[in-house]
Amino acid sequence: MVSLAVFDFDRTIVDDDSDATIINRLREKQPPPEWESTNHDWTPYMSDVFQHAYSAGLSEEDILSAIGSMRECPGVSSLLKSLAASGWDVLLLTDANTVFVNHWLKVHGLEDTVTQVMTNRAFWNNGRLYIEPLMKQTACSRCPTNLCKSIALAQFIAQRPAYKTVVYTGDGRNDFCPATNLPPHATVFPRRGYPLDDLVKKTLSSPAPLIQAKVVPWDDCYAIIKELFPENNVIS
Ligand SMILES: [Mg+2]
Ligand SMILES: [Zn+2]
Repeated sequence: MVSLAVFDFDRTIVDDDSDATIINRLREKQPPPEWESTNHDWTPYMSDVFQHAYSAGLSEEDILSAIGSMRECPGVSSLLKSLAASGWDVLLLTDANTVFVNHWLKVHGLEDTVTQVMTNRAFWNNGRLYIEPLMKQTACSRCPTNLCKSIALAQFIAQRPAYKTVVYTGDGRNDFCPATNLPPHATVFPRRGYPLDDLVKKTLSSPAPLIQAKVVPWDDCYAIIKELFPENNVIS
């Protein structure tokens, strides 16, 4: 039986945030649009950012080179290659977009280690980047309409043969919802010191914790390798 490793992308696979990377690059040319805290969904805001980037003359090449140069979290390529070599399925589940994630994986030679990328669809048209929400959900009230990672993960798992186990690695607030739906034999890897880690700690110290899975915080992906491959058959 195959196992599944689910990863967030920003600040989990890459040490940076891809949207913030582009917003900063845009800031060098022209002030980016203001984020309104009343906005619940991030995708309409990024759509505005891409419109401004286009008007400011930030080219496809500028955007892709900024994305491609983001550094990986230490140990990520070793971890992804070890998972692939051991026959694991790998799902990248992120509120970024297909253009950023697929380009970064390609530049870093890791596309073959990933089974599927589930994220907002983006595409180029006449030099401008467009983004469409991954879903329009109202079933989960704690997640934005464009992405509940619990719903996306359930959809992915429903199309695949039953998994032996599921492990989930992430850092953000929107990784908490799927973490609460993992079964007791699963493992959640929260990046230490980031919002998911805080939310997990908070629920675990409450009288009725929402998390049943084993929790292993990490500072770099070598800690995850050690947990998943204790026999040390690691590809570097
Ligand atoms: Mg993240
Ligand atoms: Zn949710």
